[in-house]
Amino acid sequence: MLLPSPWRADFPAIAALQRQGQTYLDSAATAQKPQALIDALTHYYANGAANVHRAQHLPGALATQAFEDTRHKVSQWLNVGSSGQIVFTHGATSAFNLLAYGLEHVFEPDDEIVISALEHHANLLPWQQLALRRGLKLVVLPLTETGLIDVEAAACLIGPRTRLLAVSQLSNVLGAWQPLTELLAQARAQGAMTVVDGAQGVVHGGQDLQALGCDFYVFSSHKLYGPDGVGVLYGRHQALATLRHWQFGGEMVLQTNYYEATFRPAPLGFEAGTPPIAGVIGLGASLDYLNSLDPLAVAKHEAGLHQALREGLLAREGVQLLGSPELALASFVVDGIHNADLAHLLTEQGIAVRAGHHCAIPLLKSLGLAGAIRVSLGMYNDSDDLERFFNALDQALELLQ
Ligand code: PLP
Repeated sequence: MLLPSPWRADFPAIAALQRQGQTYLDSAATAQKPQALIDALTHYYANGAANVHRAQHLPGALATQAFEDTRHKVSQWLNVGSSGQIVFTHGATSAFNLLAYGLEHVFEPDDEIVISALEHHANLLPWQQLALRRGLKLVVLPLTETGLIDVEAAACLIGPRTRLLAVSQLSNVLGAWQPLTELLAQARAQGAMTVVDGAQGVVHGGQDLQALGCDFYVFSSHKLYGPDGVGVLYGRHQALATLRHWQFGGEMVLQTNYYEATFRPAPLGFEAGTPPIAGVIGLGASLDYLNSLDPLAVAKHEAGLHQALREGLLAREGVQLLGSPELALASFVVDGIHNADLAHLLTEQGIAVRAGHHCAIPLLKSLGLAGAIRVSLGMYNDSDDLERFFNALDQALELLQ
């Protein structure tokens, strides 16, 4: 079936990559950028860069306005009401670290932090290290056979000692929506705080965090067709108020002398130093671009591509999918073939997919695997990309099998 992408031409890098003989199928690692974002960055740098929240001059006022406009656009993308609940960080990873340090004081020894077996290192290591620092217990929720966090097991493991639950919305390895509604309800019933890793989920359309009811939600701009170097931490007002300040420096301070200081509340109190100004403005342009599209058409295109990817993989002898991927990506291994050998042959043929542990070493280990190949899709991919991938895969399998 032919699945052309109506948005392909909006992403100049796709054609450039094709001229370099590359088929880009690694959008879960980072997405290519729309022309609208490139134009916004050029406009900002070509018309006068300026620092934000500090300068009284016109360039400073314009930069601050554009920066704060993005905060508003992010709050709308997440449907969280007030933009004062949006903190800009330098990426999802720095947002998780902010949380793990900013919340450290709420934990007592023997308190429990609950994560799941499929977490990306970014939503594992900050909590693991916090648990080690403070003598806390890290509880790991198991997965069902289809790669979902096991809600029944969670009902036994989330208990009165649970102080915080931190789970992914959409796995970067297994490609399935996780049962967040049930898990968050279980955590709330125990009075625990909730953190959602939205790094992969946020890419597939606007979110409704008011309906979801999490305390914190984290994502990176670069996977949402925005610039790298920018992350978002959403926190409910009350949740943000429990955070202790973490990084210290310019603009996050209210008053200081040489010996002590008072600090701003969120969001600015958690944006110490010069933030990634151009990146934040660029994220606003990417969100404008995404908002100009028909979300149903994007979802339909992505679903069609994903189905073709999944069916094509399952049709090949010896291919085993990891979990039961339902959108955006599929990870797989092939019986009797090392993923690094396969990755090498795909790379030689210009197929840009990801191979290895996907920053989820414990998950891969629990599946008994050293690594896997991951194909991930963006809205600019089309059925020709998949055809090139499958041709390359068949060639590689012929050589290796
Ligand atoms: N969480 C998930 C599910 C991810 O896929 C990633 C990145 O791959 C991250 C967190 C970390 O994002 P970043 O590296 O942009 O901080």
